[in-house]
Amino acid sequence: MSEWTNRLQEFVDSIAASVALVGRDAAGSFFVPACNQSFFAMTGGRPPGAYGFPLAFDSLIPSYARHEFREKLRDCFESGIADEFEQAYDLVADGTHWWRLSLKPFRHTDAGNAVQEILITGLEITAKMELMNQLQISTSRFRSVVDAAYDAIITIDQEHNITLFNRAAENLFGYEASEMIGQPLLRLIPEPHRSRHDSYVHQFARSPVMSRQMNERARIYGLHRDGSRLPVEIAISKINVNGLLEFTAIIRDIEDRMRLMDLFQKEAETDELTGLANRREFLEVMENSLRSDDDLSVLMLDIDFFKKVNDTYGHDAGDEVLKYLAKAGTAVVGASGLFARWGGEEFMVALPKMGLDGARSIAERFRATIADQNFKYDWPDGKAIPFTISIGVVTRASDERDMLAFLKRVDQALYKAKESGRNRVETG
Ligand code: GH3
Ligand code: MG
Ligand code: MG
Repeated sequence: MSEWTNRLQEFVDSIAASVALVGRDAAGSFFVPACNQSFFAMTGGRPPGAYGFPLAFDSLIPSYARHEFREKLRDCFESGIADEFEQAYDLVADGTHWWRLSLKPFRHTDAGNAVQEILITGLEITAKMELMNQLQISTSRFRSVVDAAYDAIITIDQEHNITLFNRAAENLFGYEASEMIGQPLLRLIPEPHRSRHDSYVHQFARSPVMSRQMNERARIYGLHRDGSRLPVEIAISKINVNGLLEFTAIIRDIEDRMRLMDLFQKEAETDELTGLANRREFLEVMENSLRSDDDLSVLMLDIDFFKKVNDTYGHDAGDEVLKYLAKAGTAVVGASGLFARWGGEEFMVALPKMGLDGARSIAERFRATIADQNFKYDWPDGKAIPFTISIGVVTRASDERDMLAFLKRVDQALYKAKESGRNRVETG
């Protein structure tokens, strides 16, 4: 070997890329007239007993990779077109290594332009392949978690178009993922909330918070394919993808919970026997009214000689009288106020935004309706039980805020009505 060839060999051996030259003999067998150390390392080492070039191609390439490699070489010799492919080599010493190989054909014009040799260069891509493999694993893990999730998961891009729609979302909204990908998210939001949605997302986009629960105070609704509204609970998060924000919403169907909460709420505010508002609900309405500066009147009423009703007709009949009073009173009070059972056979009517004259006329109408049995009612055995009520009426002074004092005044007015003969309305 000349000095020049030696230096070239040294140079070629020192580069990390694998390099080999492949020729083809008259019988069609491939041989390698030259290659560098990296090429040996790539395929598993220099074959035993091989001391000088040319080497048989087959002796360099492990059997499992040979067929594909030879096909590529053959194609390249025939077509004269450069090609690239990837191969994995299982090295006994340290596992699988991936290489990207490129084949570059060399022609000699004096040989009828046929391809004489092919230069193979290879770059190791094991790290990249391992990353891609990891990515694939984490993508399929992500996929299976997302699809097994009980909650609907939807992601949207910067333009608020849907980019992911999991199985639970399909079930919740009644659409196939394939119909929804690329669609604007607004299709899933009912009309009155649509206009607010964009500004909500923009506000969240600017906020430093990366994830949060959507506004728990107001109820949130989704729009089902059939047009119905779905009560939902939503947690949102955002991620930055190549400088663009993407948003993910995890949406939980809370229809059952809402139904229960409505029921509990109603039970907590309602008197069981009469179906009227209870004391708690009455006090809440009062508190709110006293916080404002509006007019407010209150009636307190008590059944006259109710003990006698119980004694004469029995306790169940007494209950029926309470129910009758509730229905008749509801008809009289209507939408002008809140009619509540205060306890026992005592009732309250809160009349927000009403002055003394209006309140007194409602009280008088109420008293007369009961005294005259002037309300249609299905008494259990067809016989109405006669009774009367006494009513105290008060109106708040313009700056009056003390609820206890206010209620004490109405109690005193009621006492006055009892004292002055019952079946009466008295103001205080
Ligand atoms: P007054 O005209 O002074 O109010 O006479 P009264 O008999 O109505 O006297 P009071 O208000 O002290 O009597 C209340 C009675 O109401 C006592 C109690 O047995 C009865 N009562 C309270 N709650 C109920 C109820 O839920 N059902 C029935 N049937 N009776 C009740
Ligand atoms: Mg009483
Ligand atoms: Mg009474």
